[in-house]
Amino acid sequence: MKLYFEAERFLKQNDKASGSLQSRVFNDKRLTSSPKHVFALVYSTIKFKDYIDQIIKKSKVKQEIARGKVRISDELLRLLIHDLLFSPRGRIESGKHPIKDAFLANKTRLQAEFIKLKLKYKVKAVSELPTKDSSEDETPVRWFRINTIKIDKDRFFKKHPFFAKLQPVNTIAELTSPGFIYSDDYIPHLYGIHPKEKLSAQEAYKLGEVIIQDRASCFPAHILNQDPNDVHKQVMDACSAPGNKTTHAAAYLPQGEDSVVFATERDAKRVAILRTMCEKATGKNRKRLVQITHKDFTTINPEDFPDVTGLIVDPSCSGSGIFGRAMDENSEESKSDSTIDQERLRKLASFQFVIMKHALSFPGARKVVYSTCSIHAEENERVVIDLLLDEQIRNQGWTLASRDKVIPEWPRRGIESEFVKMSRDEQVCRDLAGGCVRANPKEDGGIGFFAACFVKREAIDEYAKNNGAADNGKVCDNGKDNNETSEDWQGFDN
Ligand code: SAM
Repeated sequence: MKLYFEAERFLKQNDKASGSLQSRVFNDKRLTSSPKHVFALVYSTIKFKDYIDQIIKKSKVKQEIARGKVRISDELLRLLIHDLLFSPRGRIESGKHPIKDAFLANKTRLQAEFIKLKLKYKVKAVSELPTKDSSEDETPVRWFRINTIKIDKDRFFKKHPFFAKLQPVNTIAELTSPGFIYSDDYIPHLYGIHPKEKLSAQEAYKLGEVIIQDRASCFPAHILNQDPNDVHKQVMDACSAPGNKTTHAAAYLPQGEDSVVFATERDAKRVAILRTMCEKATGKNRKRLVQITHKDFTTINPEDFPDVTGLIVDPSCSGSGIFGRAMDENSEESKSDSTIDQERLRKLASFQFVIMKHALSFPGARKVVYSTCSIHAEENERVVIDLLLDEQIRNQGWTLASRDKVIPEWPRRGIESEFVKMSRDEQVCRDLAGGCVRANPKEDGGIGFFAACFVKREAIDEYAKNNGAADNGKVCDNGKDNNETSEDWQGFDN
C-alpha cells in the first residue's frame, strides 16, 4: 500500500500547496515509490475526481468500509477506486493489507456503479469521459527535438515515415488536430505537433532519436551556443536531472575528443534518471560526451574545471510556469497564501543566487545561462539584478548579454520595469530586459519559463579574436561595432 499512502499525501496537499504537482512529486526527497508512478496516479485521480466521487456516493462504499471498523481517508479511497475502475490495469497495486481487503470486499458494488456511470454518460471507455480540467493540464503543443547526436535531420525524415507524412504548417496556431508539424522558428531541430499525436509510441522516440522537450526548455542550451564567435567545448550543467538540457547541450558540442558536458546533480534518485536519459540520448558515446557527477554543485571546486567556458544553471524553482498550477497573481488562492508564497519564493531566490554565484566563479567561464520554469520575478529578474549588483560578480566582469545574442527574434523579454532598481534610464532597462527571455504558460505554446544570459564580454572578444571571429565586424555582444568600448554599455551603475 506504500504507493497509495505516498500518493495520498500529494492528493491531500493539492489544493493548498504551491508549485506544480509535477515539481512537488519529482522534488520530494521522502518519496520511496517511483515519482513517475506517483505523479501519474495522483494526476489521473484528480482528473477523474468528479466521477470517482459520484461512485463513492452512490455505492456507499465509505459507510460499508467503516462498518468493518477500517479507517480510510477520502483521498486514499479515491486513489483505490481510480486504480480499480479508471486505470487501464484495473487492479490495486499492492500486497495484502487490511485496507485493501476491506476495500475489495466492495468490488462488485463499485463495478456496478461504474457501469451505471458509463451508461449515464453514454461512453464505453474511461478515455471517452469528458473531463473539465484535462485541457487545463495539457500542453497546447507537443514539442520534440531531433536528437542530432544520433541522427541528422535528412536521415531522420527518411527513416521515419510517421514524421515525413505530417503536413508542415507555419505557426503553432495551425496545429489544430493531429496530422500537422511545425518547424520552430527559434530553436534548430525543434518541432511542434498536436498533443494527441502518439509521439512516445514512435520507434524514433524509443531509439532516442527524438527527445520530447518543451520549447522554452530548449532555450538555455541554444542561448549558450548560438553565437558562432563563442564556441564552448567544455560545458557544465549545474543542476542536471532529468537531463533535458544536458543532452541538448551535448548536441551542440563541437567535434573533438575534449568536447564534454559535465553534468552535476545532487539528488541520488534523480542521478539515476539522468544517467538513463543520457544513455538513451548519446548511446555508446555517453561517457565521452556527458560526464555525470553526483554532487552538490556548490561543493564543486571551480578551479578543477579550468576549461569549462559555458555553464547552464537551471536550479530547483517554484515551478509556477508549469500548467495546472500556474498561479494567477490575482486569484484568491494566491492572495490568501501570499505570506507563505513570499517566504518560499524568498528562500528559493536566495538558493538560486548562491548556485549562480558559484557558477559565475568558474575561472574559464565566458557565458552562463540562468533559467527557471517560474513565472515569478522574485526567482527571475530579481535574482539576475542581485547578481549584477554583487560587487564580486561585477569585479569578475560579468554583465548581461545583449538581445542580439539571446534569441533576438523571440518577442517576450524580461520585465523592463524590474530593472529600474539598476537604472532610471528606460533604454538601459530595455537593454537589460533584452538579455533575458520569458515564455508565458500556454500562450507561448508550452510551459512558463525564464532565461538570462550572463557574459564576460572581454573574454568573449578575446576568444573571438584568437579564433577568427566571423567577419561581420561585430564581436561585442552588445551588437555594436568593435570600436565602441564596453563603457558605451552602462546600466549597472545607477
Ligand atoms: N535542467 C534539468 C532538465 O532540463 O532536465 C532540470 C533541472 S530541475 C529544475 C533542478 C535540479 O537541480 C533537480 O534535479 C535538483 O535535484 C537539482 N539540484 C538542486 N540543487 C542542487 C545543487 N545544489 N547541486 C546540484 N543539483 C541540484
